[in-house]
Amino acid sequence: MYIQNPAGKWMAAGAILAICAAGPAIAQSKKIPAFDISSIDRNLKPCADFDGFSNENWKKANPIPGTESKWGAFGILDKENKEVRIKGIITEIAKRSGLAKGTEEQQIADYYVSFLDTTTIEKRDITPLKPYLDKINAIRTLADWARVCGELQEIGVNTWAGFAVAADARDSKMNAVYGGQDGLSLGERSYYDRQDEATQKVREEFVKHIDKMFTMAGFKEKNPGKTILDFEMSIAKLQLTNVELRDPVKTYNKIGFGELSMLAPDFDWNTFAARQGIRTDTVILQNKAYLSNGNKVIKATPIETLKTYTRFQLLTTFAGYLPKRFDDENFHFFGTVVTGRKVQRPRIDRAIRSTDAVLGMPLGKLFVKKYFPESSKQKVSEMIENVRAVYGERIDKLSWMSATTKQMAHKKLAAFTYKIGYPDKWKDYSTIDIQKGRLVENIISAAKYHTNERTKKIGKAVDKSEWLMTPQTVNAYYYPLNNEVVFPAGILQPPFFNPDADDAVNYGGIIAVIGHEFTHGFDDQGSQFDAEGNLKNWWTADDRKNFEALAKKYIDYFSSLEPLPGFKINGALTIGENIADLGGLTLAYHALEKSLKGKPTPAPIDGFTWKQRFFLGWAQVWHANITDAGLRNQIQTDSHSPARYRINGPLPHMEEFADAWSCGADSKMVLPAAQRVVIW
Ligand SMILES: [Zn+2]
Repeated sequence: MYIQNPAGKWMAAGAILAICAAGPAIAQSKKIPAFDISSIDRNLKPCADFDGFSNENWKKANPIPGTESKWGAFGILDKENKEVRIKGIITEIAKRSGLAKGTEEQQIADYYVSFLDTTTIEKRDITPLKPYLDKINAIRTLADWARVCGELQEIGVNTWAGFAVAADARDSKMNAVYGGQDGLSLGERSYYDRQDEATQKVREEFVKHIDKMFTMAGFKEKNPGKTILDFEMSIAKLQLTNVELRDPVKTYNKIGFGELSMLAPDFDWNTFAARQGIRTDTVILQNKAYLSNGNKVIKATPIETLKTYTRFQLLTTFAGYLPKRFDDENFHFFGTVVTGRKVQRPRIDRAIRSTDAVLGMPLGKLFVKKYFPESSKQKVSEMIENVRAVYGERIDKLSWMSATTKQMAHKKLAAFTYKIGYPDKWKDYSTIDIQKGRLVENIISAAKYHTNERTKKIGKAVDKSEWLMTPQTVNAYYYPLNNEVVFPAGILQPPFFNPDADDAVNYGGIIAVIGHEFTHGFDDQGSQFDAEGNLKNWWTADDRKNFEALAKKYIDYFSSLEPLPGFKINGALTIGENIADLGGLTLAYHALEKSLKGKPTPAPIDGFTWKQRFFLGWAQVWHANITDAGLRNQIQTDSHSPARYRINGPLPHMEEFADAWSCGADSKMVLPAAQRVVIW
């Protein structure tokens, strides 16, 4: 569950860098323990397996619900937040009558009702998609196909390539159009490349899934599953890997719009762009070779195959809003086969979550009014400034960086801006047409709204006040093009931020999260952007070499970790997050130490010193169970290491950890000095 990236999912430079991919909020009625010691398994030793020691009994007491693929602090908070708080807001509004058309209340109430109205959904079957299916059926030529693909893009249906609009990475004050690879139903090329048994099984099930969906829809193709898998395989092998996509320089290729037609002459770019409202003189391309090689594939592919592929893209985009047979089959494949979830959430909870996904900002406005204490803003801004100060001290102490680069790093650090809680101004959603009994059309109207919002940005200055997450989201992010850290209201609650907890546990929670986001400004990607958010080198060549050598060492370390047989962590994919975790923990620890200077040493709580409780705080944030399928999916697609390795991964590199737990040099959780990595 990745945070939605409104800037475009295939744009490395614009990618937002979040603490986790999961989702919740504040005012607590009951006192929550800072750290619940019943989570601890004393049969396991902190110096041998810190995650096991801290969390094993929690894991035993908290099995994964059948509706989930993983279960930890993020998911639990997300569930409470949506299925209690947001649900309360929605159901209260839904009871009202006479809501004026176009008001946020009317939209929320009627969308919610439309999702729950399964009688109408069954009765209408796939007729809401008919206008688009007719367009696909009428395709005769490649030019027709490009036009229809453009129309489908407007309503959120993918094809082999696509556009996004976001700040220009080399001129971060102005918006630009980006273009890149897209169109893989399984989301990521490794699902098409890998030859291991589990991945082959996913592909086999994918073929069966498509065949079933087509039969249910009454489409006449023979073996559509195989046709589509073969086509997607042929474009997948041309695509950049998710590791290659991390390189903001290689994926920045600004060209004239007309050059698209030279790279891929058989695709009608003008019509494709115009049909989704894109008008631009330039495009920042991720990868030119993808378009020229992709053109060869398209040219060689029978038009009927492209139509079959496009029918499936339409069907899969809307499957969750169609009658039960489609919805169940869609869940069976993407929920159970791909991520190991056993059962769907109850319809009412899905209605809440879907309303939140479509109308998240209007709901967020109501949410913060009810649940976010303004006093939190002040507290969090103080914490942010503490982290900034400690980061500065750490930079001064670095032995691998020259004074010249240090000066630039300080300049960048001083320029970080931050957002806390919720946006200062709210977007106007009133043009989204939401009607009872029209679920698919509601989704289409929302998609068109977002497409139009995107179009409006082209050629304009970037609105730096925009939020890329809703306030109720349990997450946080660093956005390199704004050089900003953002902490939605959702994450400012236990166990991340607990007003009842001792400082040590909060420093291991929310302060480490703040440190994590700050460190993203100096990870493998963030460090290539300057204080103004431009992709511009500010390092001396030697310092950059030193940084890259340290990063390489940390990549190799994580690549040696194997959560499941045959599934090792991809150190190169997760390097940014791993650097951020190591940096965040280090910064938070030293900020805590600094806050205690000149004060009496805090007394142990539950037998644990403040140093130990700091690390218990971190372990608690990441306690989690995960299904095997969910773990494989995370390893292949997620830039975050699995939760267990966010605990046990960085700690062996920290002498602060060995000191806190008096670990001997031969302990599993302690690396020899020469193998340790300290970057920030
Ligand atoms: Zn992160």
